[in-house]
Amino acid sequence: MIAIYPGSFDPITLGHLDLIQRGSRLFERVIVAVLRNPNKMPLFSVQQRLDQIRLSTQHLPNVEVDSFDGLTVNYAQMRHAQVLLRGLRAVSDFEVELQMAHTNKTLSTQIETVFLATSNEYSFLSSSVVKEIARFGGSIDHLVPPHIALDIYQCYNHNSPMLNPISTEATPPLKSMSAQKEA
Ligand code: ADP
Repeated sequence: MIAIYPGSFDPITLGHLDLIQRGSRLFERVIVAVLRNPNKMPLFSVQQRLDQIRLSTQHLPNVEVDSFDGLTVNYAQMRHAQVLLRGLRAVSDFEVELQMAHTNKTLSTQIETVFLATSNEYSFLSSSVVKEIARFGGSIDHLVPPHIALDIYQCYNHNSPMLNPISTEATPPLKSMSAQKEA
């Protein structure tokens, strides 16, 4: 069975990668499909995101990376895929994802949406959270692969985090980030 894992992946996080890795054990092939969405202002271009995902998944031989536009079900049909793979983090995801799965079912009865529950350690993680932390100088080294952390730091004009990464030592309180911002 071929599964499509569609998303924005702006940028791909360790949560996405965990899902891809687990999906690659369940399906013959997983196609990670970056949506070309003209309505969104992404941090990375589609080509940059494709390169980032390819580098992050090169150890998984049955994972392919591609981009698409238009309806996901049309793309899935074109790629002869039977499954849309999606991740569920919280109840808030569930509502949106269920609506999308039902909508897609009305467009194609041949394609099933399969949800994987996120691994506990990534249940809070999203691309937006990563960008928000990096924008204010926090460390994202524990949230994305190293090459992507570098790409993001470069986007925000610093080569490394300005704050200490999370460790067992005392971590700077979030308040100090906003204080730094105001300074
Ligand atoms: P979209 O714009 O379609 O939500 P995303 O790149 O944000 O694109 O997410 C793509 C898919 O990955 C969605 O199904 C989302 O629920 C899932 N996902 C996002 N973050 C995580 C995570 N931390 N763990 C597991 N799944 C995730």
